[in-house]
Amino acid sequence: MNQYIHELEELDKKHFLHPTSPIQQQQQHGPSFIFTKGEGVMLEDIKGYKVIDGMSSLWNVNIGHGREEMGKVALEQMSKLAFSSCFATFSNEPAIKLAAKLADVAPGHLSATFFTSGGSESNDTAYKLARHYWILKGLPKKKKIITRTKSYHGVAMGATSATGLKPFRDFTNSLAPDFHYVENTSSEALRQMIELEGPDTIAAFVAEPVQGAGGVHIAPDNYFKEVRDICDEYNLLMITDEVITGFGRTGTYFGIEHYDVVPDMMCFAKGVTSGYAQLGGVMISERMHQDFAKHSTGTLLHGYTYSGHPMACSVALKNLEIIESENLIDRAKQMGAEMLAGFKALQKSQSIVGEVRALGLMGAIELVKDQDTNERFQEPVAPLVVAEAAKRGLVIRSVVFDGQDTLVMAPPLVINKEEINQMITILAETISAVEITYKKGIEG
Ligand code: PMP
Repeated sequence: MNQYIHELEELDKKHFLHPTSPIQQQQQHGPSFIFTKGEGVMLEDIKGYKVIDGMSSLWNVNIGHGREEMGKVALEQMSKLAFSSCFATFSNEPAIKLAAKLADVAPGHLSATFFTSGGSESNDTAYKLARHYWILKGLPKKKKIITRTKSYHGVAMGATSATGLKPFRDFTNSLAPDFHYVENTSSEALRQMIELEGPDTIAAFVAEPVQGAGGVHIAPDNYFKEVRDICDEYNLLMITDEVITGFGRTGTYFGIEHYDVVPDMMCFAKGVTSGYAQLGGVMISERMHQDFAKHSTGTLLHGYTYSGHPMACSVALKNLEIIESENLIDRAKQMGAEMLAGFKALQKSQSIVGEVRALGLMGAIELVKDQDTNERFQEPVAPLVVAEAAKRGLVIRSVVFDGQDTLVMAPPLVINKEEINQMITILAETISAVEITYKKGIEG
């Protein structure tokens, strides 16, 4: 077995270019985990080591790991019809049923879905559909997309260009034009930018209801209402990116529901299948849908091979059935409150825990050198906490963009109170250990 694991590690180093990973670390040490099994909130690696998946992997495994019923549905659909095209008006049963189901659960008048294979494709699709919409409406100058400074929208060319977090954009030195970055949660700054750029040049404003990769930033209560009014006033489309916040994550079906606002377009992915298949999409309002139908006389020239993939759509339908029948949205709300209470206890017991926040099961802990002044450490310590937590059986993530020193977590919605307590205990031990190491470092 050891020899087999060693061989796998060597093959990984030699042949696997990992997504969003430190390549030198991988080349030196190989993969940090080779996961082989999952059950509920737990993941197990090839060496039999078990960890709590405090991130739902990539904020997506909402119903938890190891659900046999998902495999059964996938097998049934694959055996009957694994794939057929949705181009040229071809269709299939799971895609039709899922589109109808989404119209049923989505906020307000969002009624039609364009399917993709993930979040990045969904964002690129949204920007293209928004611009195409204005072309059809006879306003082709409306093409700029306004996005926020701490946003993350994915890694396709449009999605990267829309991502406010600069390191992602600096990765490549040529981006898509016509993206503008506005101060993170200021509706006033949005208004000023629109005035400055000219509303007749702007297609849409895009925002995550709660920013995920940027550090779990929760907007002030009135923010999205004001944004909605501004979009209406200046005739822009409002796009929400619900790729993380959709399907129960924040304790409501969709994150924007906390703000009682309905966007014109809504991107989704991740939690729609809980990671059991690759699927995303963009929902558009009934009004936009009718306008497309009225003005688009030719072919809608945008489509992915896997748009409306029958197996992925059947898996999504089963996933939504599970989320609803097991009341996982309510559970996210309740367990989210438990998690936040745990964070607050950490704030009391650990001298380096600063601000804590959570909405449903999406949470963040800021690390500070001084709780009173919120002074940061010179070098971020969150990555040390993440590495140490993994050794103690908990996988979470650090965010160090923009001078942040933040831990973020988003466990599966099936998590129970005991497992939340376990997470908090591991966090307390880990943060203490890192604090002691740090103090030793400055003393000697
Ligand atoms: N939008 C948001 C808000 C995301 O968090 C992500 C992924 N973390 C994406 C888009 C991109 O999704 P994908 O990785 O599936 O392309």
